[in-house]
Amino acid sequence: MRAPALTLIDLLTGYRVTQALYVAARLGIADRLADGPQGSEELARATGAHAGALRRLLRALASLGVFAEEADGRFALTEVGALLRDEVPGSLRGGVIFYGDRRHWNAWAKLEQSVMTGETVWGPRGASAFFEMNTKDPEGAAIFNAAMTSLTSAFDAAVVAAYDFSRLRTLVDVGGGQGALISSILRANPGLRGILFDIPPVVDGARARIAAGLAGRLELVAGDVFAAVPSGGDAYLLKWIIHDWDDERSLAILRNCHRAMPPEGRLLLVERVVPERTERSADTQSTLLTDLNMLVLTGGHERTAAEYRALLGGAGFALARIVPTATPLGIIEATRA
Ligand code: SAH
Repeated sequence: MRAPALTLIDLLTGYRVTQALYVAARLGIADRLADGPQGSEELARATGAHAGALRRLLRALASLGVFAEEADGRFALTEVGALLRDEVPGSLRGGVIFYGDRRHWNAWAKLEQSVMTGETVWGPRGASAFFEMNTKDPEGAAIFNAAMTSLTSAFDAAVVAAYDFSRLRTLVDVGGGQGALISSILRANPGLRGILFDIPPVVDGARARIAAGLAGRLELVAGDVFAAVPSGGDAYLLKWIIHDWDDERSLAILRNCHRAMPPEGRLLLVERVVPERTERSADTQSTLLTDLNMLVLTGGHERTAAEYRALLGGAGFALARIVPTATPLGIIEATRA
């Protein structure tokens, strides 16, 4: 067993890994290794990096299993490192760029402020400040939207497999981002129609990304979830939406879904569910560190099943069941109470 002091030092210095991954992603190292191993000199020439420093970066990432150092000193991609490639199915490069980018990085530097005040680092306006900021900062918004599209790819197949969407006629993806999840669900369920709903700039960006084959079955609607959500769905899917908001704003969103829904409609929240008691597991760790991310960035939080039940009750819904997926995400299914 690793000595407690060394364990603590490993935990304490975790931030270095984020930046090491970020720099490798920015330099496009994984794409350059796609056709086979390369030496650090060659990679330095191609990226304009300092050869000695780049070798140190690649070696450190090889010690973490992101690259592998061959006997001749060249670096190869591992299965994990291959996810740093751009524009390949399952690419997490957009997520890495988001987490390492100065906007996110500087926000986390103020965690202490959030812990002392209970507010996001932008102050009490929480998620509205975060999303407003995004509309004024097109580069930041593009990084965020690409990050969501990228990160959701690690979960979409498990969501598609865990729930029988084929019994539905029209599924509305509320805050569906650039449409990655709804596209996966429609591809797997040829009889289903979809509506992708998000704010105007995100919907505009989504339009170019929707596969031509789905165009006839997927309608794109722009709007504000606090004003109204589109009617006409028999199910409303909200993935990574409610965790962005405090209870009051969450209730406003849920009530608008309730209003838009037919009496037999279904609500599907796809979220991490916080266990009642904290145990040590990789899934719980990622859930509870994501909860801190919500504290810092949006003022939302990850919730327990009991908290979801109460929140849903407040908006006129009854929690029916929580369908587990093969990831830390659960599908929280509710009907009108
Ligand atoms: N469901 C997607 C995106 C989650 S991020 C996924 O799981 O990957 C949260 C989404 O909520 C973003 O796409 C954001 O643009 C959208 N959003 C934020 N405020 C909104 C509002 N007022 N109305 C509609 N959508 C909103």
